[in-house]
Amino acid sequence: MALRVHHLNCGSMCPPLRHLVNERGLLVCHCLLIEGPRGLVLVDTGMGTLDCDPRTTRIPRLFKALVGARLDPRETALAQVRALGFDPADVRDIVVTHLDLDHAGGLGDFPRARVHIDDAELAAALKPSLRERVRYIEAQWAHGADWRRHKAVPGGERWFGFDRVRDLAGLGDDLLMIPLPGHSPGHAGVAVRTPDGWLLHAGDAYFHHSEITDSPHPSIPIRMIEALDDADRTARLANQIRLRELAGRGEVRVMSAHDPIELEQARQRATAAA
Ligand SMILES: [Zn+2]
Repeated sequence: MALRVHHLNCGSMCPPLRHLVNERGLLVCHCLLIEGPRGLVLVDTGMGTLDCDPRTTRIPRLFKALVGARLDPRETALAQVRALGFDPADVRDIVVTHLDLDHAGGLGDFPRARVHIDDAELAAALKPSLRERVRYIEAQWAHGADWRRHKAVPGGERWFGFDRVRDLAGLGDDLLMIPLPGHSPGHAGVAVRTPDGWLLHAGDAYFHHSEITDSPHPSIPIRMIEALDDADRTARLANQIRLRELAGRGEVRVMSAHDPIELEQARQRATAAA
């Protein structure tokens, strides 16, 4: 059964010298809101209500300054779920690509949801090294997230040549976690079967749409962001090559978390398919 997907931006960021970053001078937090048979499913959560409240914000000043985070409460997943006419209590499951602070901020806005995550990512976030303490903000899951750990079995079932974890949120073969380590220790993509064919939300496996084409040309600021965040550069670059091959075959629409042009295109296609 194909799943209807809404494409949300849950956190705009306008870094200094923004027009050197990409064509729009903007980084987004591209999240998916999926209408499943057992309730709503969120893929990533962007910035949350407490991140956007200046009295309670958990986002470090340095991060805010470096990426130019706007922290607009109207952009939270919670506000957008309501604006689409849904009840936030119907968000029963959240699948996170990883737990960096710009992906996990909205977890607390859906405190009863099951949170599906790669086992290695949760292990890293719960016991971060000194370097990892900059990227993971414990307060974002201090409400007591209902973690559901997943691990792909090497040599197990495959999806377009990638390892996969199936049956997340009771959605069987229509919603898959695809391990793509590199950016963070247990980073994963999320594949969704939509009325318009398969899409793969590749999280932060790459930051600019050109990186999965034959002529990659990410800007110097994008390369710097990617390199600064790397948990395993070799693994990230190897996964980029695999994503390039996958996108080149034309059977799956691949999109990343922070590219505003991919978000625009995904919204246009979702509207056309509705
Ligand atoms: Zn990110």
